[in-house]
Amino acid sequence: MTGQHRIVVLGAGYAGLAAAGRLASKARGAEITVVDARDHFVERVRLHQQAAGQRISTWDLRELLESKKIHFVRARATEIDTEGKRVLLHTATALDYDTLVYALGSIAESNGVPGVAEHAYSVSTPEDADRFKAPAGAIVVVGAGATGIELAAELAEQQPDSRVLLLSPEEPGAWLSARAQAHIRRVLERLGVEIRPDAKVLEVTVDGVRLADGTLIECAATVWTAGFAVPDLAARSGLSVDGTGRVLTDSSLRSISHPDVYAAGDSAVIAGPGGRELRMACATALPTGKYAADAVVARLRGAEPEELRFRYIFQCLSLGRRDGVIQVLHADDSPARTVLTGRTAAWVKELIVRGAGWVARR
Ligand SMILES: Cc1cc2nc3c(=O)[nH]c(=O)nc-3n(C[C@H](O)[C@H](O)[C@H](O)COP(=O)(O)OP(=O)(O)OC[C@H]3O[C@@H](n4cnc5c(N)ncnc54)[C@H](O)[C@@H]3O)c2cc1C
Repeated sequence: MTGQHRIVVLGAGYAGLAAAGRLASKARGAEITVVDARDHFVERVRLHQQAAGQRISTWDLRELLESKKIHFVRARATEIDTEGKRVLLHTATALDYDTLVYALGSIAESNGVPGVAEHAYSVSTPEDADRFKAPAGAIVVVGAGATGIELAAELAEQQPDSRVLLLSPEEPGAWLSARAQAHIRRVLERLGVEIRPDAKVLEVTVDGVRLADGTLIECAATVWTAGFAVPDLAARSGLSVDGTGRVLTDSSLRSISHPDVYAAGDSAVIAGPGGRELRMACATALPTGKYAADAVVARLRGAEPEELRFRYIFQCLSLGRRDGVIQVLHADDSPARTVLTGRTAAWVKELIVRGAGWVARR
């Protein structure tokens, strides 16, 4: 490997940190720089806990990275000059790269529903979660995907006097096995969450939400968890992206349009088992970040990287601090019959969240 190959990693979430740590240990002689708009690593998978009023730990990125001889630049990347191989920063400075790893994650998405941007809260980023201060009256959580379920349970458990409503056009956890769905419903009901699995929200207003059937539900706050989008930096910079702005990658996570750019985590389109795209998850961000680093190192050594081998194992949902669901999965993400529930599941989920944060930081 030639000396001082410059690798810039954009994003210090699960994927970016996993990539940078792996590069630091394997890409000897390379200069590695991580760029993030925040100066702390936040366990994003705990943001529903933060929104419900719990304190969550954060880690100083400069300390974390410089201890591994990785440079850290706190700045927002505003453009990638793919011709000049430079990342432009909001500080009006630029970083040159030979190889770029794009791992900018995801943000909240309003799904085009009127009023979401103006009147709804989100728990997608630490700033969003911080902005939400649970009010005394009713709280409507829109979306019964993993984030909506976890948030509704956490709010109901932390604030038993609040009225929490979970609105979605589907049964909470509809993609999981019947046993997992039944347990989720049982726990949510025990916590006092009002589940409305027939509710399509058409508008969010200053004092509530309007449903497709014309019903108006008044509430003190609405939290939108029904969708995630990605930053538009890749699209604006001319990288090949899908309709949502995620970087299109080949089987080695290399951009299909720019061979010196790799992408991992939520902001990349990555083929998974059975040809299904990997879903946005910490569980996919960590291994794809690591793998992208391995692919970069292999090519720096003049070899062709082995293909990404990924299979799903389980999906974990917390249902407050004392209950949860661990759904065992087939390789392609479809639910198997085995489900773990109750306190054991809550404990397993907590261990996994701690483990994921540990892997990212190490
Ligand atoms: C409340 C909640 C609970 C969740 N629970 C789970 C769970 O239990 N299990 C699971 O697998 N997944 C879970 N997820 C999803 C998981 O958090 C994400 O899939 C994961 O964080 C993606 O990792 P990433 O590294 O791709 O992106 P991120 O973790 O989002 O990191 C991206 C980084 O890029 C930085 N960044 C973005 N734009 C710029 C820019 N222009 N310039 C500089 N820096 C920038 C951000 O500051 C951030 O640090 C949850 C998500 C939420 C919101």
